Amino acid sequence: MYDIIIIGGGPAGLTAALYALRAQKSVLVLERMGIGGQIALSEKIENFPGVLSISGQEFADALLAQVESFGGEIRYENVIEVKPGKVKTVVCETEKYLGKAVILATGVKNRQLGADGEESLIGRGVSFCAVCDGRFFKDKDVAVIGGGNTALQEAKYLSGIAKTVYLIHRRDEFRAEEWIIKQLKECENVKWIISATVDKFCGEERLTGLDLNLLKDGTKSHIDVEGAFVAVGQVPQNENFGGLINLTSDGYAAAGENCATNQKGIFVAGDCRKKDIRQLTTAVGDGSVAALAACKFLEENQ
Ligand code: NAP
Repeated sequence: MYDIIIIGGGPAGLTAALYALRAQKSVLVLERMGIGGQIALSEKIENFPGVLSISGQEFADALLAQVESFGGEIRYENVIEVKPGKVKTVVCETEKYLGKAVILATGVKNRQLGADGEESLIGRGVSFCAVCDGRFFKDKDVAVIGGGNTALQEAKYLSGIAKTVYLIHRRDEFRAEEWIIKQLKECENVKWIISATVDKFCGEERLTGLDLNLLKDGTKSHIDVEGAFVAVGQVPQNENFGGLINLTSDGYAAAGENCATNQKGIFVAGDCRKKDIRQLTTAVGDGSVAALAACKFLEENQ
């Protein structure tokens, strides 16, 4: 029996663990894939207060070392259900764990376009992470799909590796901030294809090109590319908790700034919570708030 079980080993979950451990609680962190979540894939972090510059992996490693130094226990498990009650049962694929309080910190995953060929060519030309896979496309032609900060930053990163980077966006206005649009406009090997959607990811064994739909005049087009980086936002990983807590219509955990859900003793932290700003700083902020709220819950429900 643990005081607090934390589901998710990203910045929100690990910060929650750190705060709970320092409050003398017994803590188990359950992580499905790799410690650090999405931030571990970031090439460089330069907007975390007090840290001039650090790679995402270094940041994740340091956070893990800090949690372990306070005695945090980490297990690699895929959680499929949380059963509520005075004692909560966290059901994984092979094991069950009991906890008095649970913090959900499951983060978000990359959204797919849902176009033909996309799913079958993932890992064979189709990618969701330029920092992870960009180096495979040195001096090749690639495309980035999306118009947010992520898409434009990926395009900028790839412009230093690939021969040509096509930036494909469905509108002629961008969600991305002005500074990154300006930087990308200065990259000579970036070609902008706006008001266009991807109809099909072409290729059998590997990606060979993209069939495009040009929305302004309704015509079709095709570009030859060996890599396509899909960067069209994220979706929350709350699919296993729909019966446990209230979710918003787009699947985020409906909890306010106090990180408390509608289910007693279940808290939520980080990008999987409904919020306006999803940043590293807001994720770690949530982690501390959720942990302290869980500690207070434990004291009031001895
Ligand atoms: P985002 O801002 O939500 O942008 C998603 C982009 O994908 C939008 O351009 C959207 O087009 C497009 N899109 C969505 N669904 C699509 C579909 N089915 N087909 C084609 N296009 C589609 O996502 P993000 O870029 O991943 O950023 C997520 C959050 O992280 C944002 O708040 C962002 O500011 C933040 N972020 C910040 C930094 C930083 O350095 N400050 C870096 C990365 C991310 P529409 O615009 O037409 O809807």
